[in-house]
Amino acid sequence: WIISDVAFLKRVQLRGLPSFGFLFDIDGVLVRGRTPIPAARAAFRKLVNPQGQFLVPVVFVTNAGDCLRQKKAEQLSHLLGISQDQVMMSHSPLRMFKRYHEKCVLVSGQGPLLDIAQDLGFCQPITIDTLREKRPLLDAVDHDRRPNVLVSEIFVPNLSVSVVLFGEPVRWETSLQLIIDVLLTSGYPGNPYGQESYPHLPVLACNMDLMWVAEAQSPRFGHGTFMVCLENIYKKITGKDLKYEALMGKPSRLTYQYAEHLIRAQALQRSWEQPIQTLYAVGDNVMTDVYGANLYNRYLQETAARCSSVLVCTGVYDPHSEVALPSRDSIAQNVFHGHRDFSFDPALVEPDHIVPDVDAAVDLVFQLENFAPH
Ligand SMILES: [Mg+2]
Repeated sequence: WIISDVAFLKRVQLRGLPSFGFLFDIDGVLVRGRTPIPAARAAFRKLVNPQGQFLVPVVFVTNAGDCLRQKKAEQLSHLLGISQDQVMMSHSPLRMFKRYHEKCVLVSGQGPLLDIAQDLGFCQPITIDTLREKRPLLDAVDHDRRPNVLVSEIFVPNLSVSVVLFGEPVRWETSLQLIIDVLLTSGYPGNPYGQESYPHLPVLACNMDLMWVAEAQSPRFGHGTFMVCLENIYKKITGKDLKYEALMGKPSRLTYQYAEHLIRAQALQRSWEQPIQTLYAVGDNVMTDVYGANLYNRYLQETAARCSSVLVCTGVYDPHSEVALPSRDSIAQNVFHGHRDFSFDPALVEPDHIVPDVDAAVDLVFQLENFAPH
């Protein structure tokens, strides 16, 4: 009877332990611009104990990539103390690409690019601006920015052995020109374009969102739009496809794999013995959050784990708008705003659950999981 008693106690003990985790999107779920969404505060009160510790594993997954995750964690500190280990930016999976860390890498985007690259583990990042300084003859679109005296270029052998696209840059013509130069010369920009440059140097890209919503009435260009330009210029010039060594940020599998890894690491750290079986991905964007979670769930099919998509109505998705979901109509018109390398599948944009806000999402999940925290 002692054994069964122990087993009983164990069961009671485990009941208050989570066998699931949350992947929260940030923009449109917890905040809108700089303004916190009221439901987020209510939701977080349910997610922590009186000591402020999380009762379940939680990861914040954003496609933003123009700052360090520590800064993103600080931005959320009005809600509660979040450690930077819980925040995943679109570029976070680059930490795993250790084979590129030691080598020179050309980085494109805006914000503190060198800090971000170094924080991720890259030892020799070089920005488009620095490359432009070293190769002043290459950037010729803007007549006012051309060198007005003939400058001699500094000889720098093999400036780059891979290209990392962090996010949309400014002055697109400069970035497009220099990235194409690097790819077509196998890392010797300034040299003549070579025939031997295909397959080209590895390109790793973060955040392929075509557009995003800001204060303006209609959506704004996102990094995905920049990538469309780069892909098409490359194809037009060479006749060949630009290939990505890796695409990360939602909806890519890589991002969900990394988020799952962080969730499991939290559970381990807290000594929660229940295996984590379900990931609940809460987001406001059908094309990124719902598509990504459903795609990952397909990938998990062979395993014991699953990923469930929960759509909230506090952000991009508006239940009252007719164009809220990429509908059958848009498929008929052949309009697909996802990335070139992701195919459209109507089943992938159907959320498992639709709830008003993040607070309702937490209630729903606790109920589905029969979760009663101690
Ligand atoms: Mg969002």
